[in-house]
Amino acid sequence: MEFTRGIQKFFLWDIVKGMSATLRHMFKKPVTLQYPTERWEPPDRFRGFLGLTRDFKTGEELCIGCLNCEKACPVDCITIVTAGKGREMYAKEFYIDYMRCMYCGLCTEACPTTPLSIVHTHQYETTGYFRDDLVYEKERLYDVWEKEVNYTGPRPWGKLFGLRNQEADMRPEAPAETAPAE
Ligand code: SF4
Ligand code: SF4
Repeated sequence: MEFTRGIQKFFLWDIVKGMSATLRHMFKKPVTLQYPTERWEPPDRFRGFLGLTRDFKTGEELCIGCLNCEKACPVDCITIVTAGKGREMYAKEFYIDYMRCMYCGLCTEACPTTPLSIVHTHQYETTGYFRDDLVYEKERLYDVWEKEVNYTGPRPWGKLFGLRNQEADMRPEAPAETAPAE
């Protein structure tokens, strides 16, 4: 035992071992990303920020103000103010507090509409100077979804909800630009 240790010491075995590990990793592809120019690509089933969805054809809000998501949320971070009655009911105000949301997805599971009125997107970057900046109101929640479906990069947004195909088929064409009057 003493002899082996002596040999190892003589040949600086620990240093050789350490250097071999360094050499091995020198030729491997780095796992770090040069953020923000390079970004992590979330997996298909990633649960990022929640977005509220619209009908692709008419642009109408799909949410019927049933409050199921508000009731299903285990941390009470959804607040909805409804207006109208019966089939006319809709969410007049809709807030999600991202300071509290734990991205569990229970709100999307509870939503009864087809397609879903509330969906998880692949977006995960936000910031703000104040806590209230992370309370997303209705328009911002629709913007999250708009950004998701209009994104043209390589991330597989549409795969998750089939939105990309729906959008291509159903989104009304933009009105043709008219020549300015002379
Ligand atoms: S993902 Fe979970 S915690 Fe976040 S709003 Fe939905 S139900 Fe609440
Ligand atoms: S998002 Fe869905 S579950 Fe929540 S109020 Fe609207 S329709 Fe109901």
